Amino acid sequence: MSSTTMAPAKRPEIKTALPGPKGQEIINADAQFVTPSYPRPSFKLVAERAQGVWIEDVDGNIFLDCNAGVAVCSTGHCHPEVVAAIQKQAAEMIHMCGTDYYYRHMPQLAQKLDEIVPVPSPTRTHFANSGTEAVETALKLAMHATGREKFIAFFNSFHGRTLGSLSLTSSRVAQRKGFKRQALDVVHVPYPNEFRNPFNDADCGEGGAGQGALTWIEERLFKTTTPPEEVAGIVVEVVQGEGGYVPAPRNFLEGLRRICDQHGIMLIVDEVQSGMGRTGKMFASDHFDLKPDIVCIAKGIGSGLPIGVCVARANLMDWKPGAHASTFGGNPVCIAAALKTIELLEGGLVRNSAEVGDYLKSELEKLQRKYDCIGDVRGLGLMIGVEFVEGRSNKPAPDLRDRVEVACFDRGLVILGAGTNTIRWSPPLILTKENVDVAVEIFDQAIAASI
Ligand code: PLP
Repeated sequence: MSSTTMAPAKRPEIKTALPGPKGQEIINADAQFVTPSYPRPSFKLVAERAQGVWIEDVDGNIFLDCNAGVAVCSTGHCHPEVVAAIQKQAAEMIHMCGTDYYYRHMPQLAQKLDEIVPVPSPTRTHFANSGTEAVETALKLAMHATGREKFIAFFNSFHGRTLGSLSLTSSRVAQRKGFKRQALDVVHVPYPNEFRNPFNDADCGEGGAGQGALTWIEERLFKTTTPPEEVAGIVVEVVQGEGGYVPAPRNFLEGLRRICDQHGIMLIVDEVQSGMGRTGKMFASDHFDLKPDIVCIAKGIGSGLPIGVCVARANLMDWKPGAHASTFGGNPVCIAAALKTIELLEGGLVRNSAEVGDYLKSELEKLQRKYDCIGDVRGLGLMIGVEFVEGRSNKPAPDLRDRVEVACFDRGLVILGAGTNTIRWSPPLILTKENVDVAVEIFDQAIAASI
């Protein structure tokens, strides 16, 4: 493999057994030298290069990517304009350390974020390097702004694996097992989709389930374990990501905003996975006119470069020098990638996410009518979850989901599970309807071969 770019493809091309011989060598070396804590899926992709929606592995196999490096490569792999922006910035200044020095990039991106985030302007931005760090910032800021230290989060949420955000994360027991007592005082509430309302069974429809979760917070938590005046923040994903691509109902989000206003609690919205055009609007909050106090953003904002930001109402971010900072956070190369990414998103990719997302969802709904084993097809824009169940029941079919995931990979389609029994579709936002036709045809074949 000599060139760095790939020839344009129309369909996946699988030429070797998977993984191929070169891939297997890398997997062996990884098994010897790399931490085994990474939760790798059942299929093994050993990537060499990627372009647009295509990935080439080390053995020359070509895959259609409908995962985007776990919802990160929003503008597609190695978008030429993002690459040029990174190269230009890398030649001018790679690092300076915004904690101690000034450079134009940080205020430039912070000002742009002030324009586009769902948090009401004026805002301020803190720069970090990942999603979990953006969440850590939000937690510290909520504690600073309220002088309180309890948090409310939701079951099946994922907010990261560092100790503060881990106290919120609750999508799998493996994430916490062995780490004993959590760093923060967090109480979890069922997310609306799985809420069994103990107060009024008749309320358990879509809107009712949202009301059920709110009732749980107000009537149970606030009256027993968790006085509202001690709660610093409620942390929520508008569309649960790792929990299985589950959008929240509007009345639930409106209710959270009301509860926070009523009790001086910070509403922290984690848009790490759902933000930056993924849902067909710039932020998932925008679908519901939700106005958080603090928003966490990472993944798609840098098209693959590590950047995480926490944006808050300006009057909350009045902490003193030294309260929170990061050596690499706000790195100029990452910001150059983020500014170009936002330009591309505003220039058409958010619209494409909405249009192609609608098309993908309608094609997946056709498969739902064809196969009894597909339960829910849900989501917004290009953030779509397909749930696998036993027959027409609601009983989750995690093994079938895993088999479908591997069968897709064997046919050259990269998709990834989320939650117990869901396959997530989180492709690059440049995906075309032609790509969708190829991907859904493979998905169809993979399901037929797996049931
Ligand atoms: N928050 C959400 C909603 C996420 O989906 C993730 C990662 O999947 C994180 C936070 C943590 O991000 P990172 O892996 O960059 O630390």
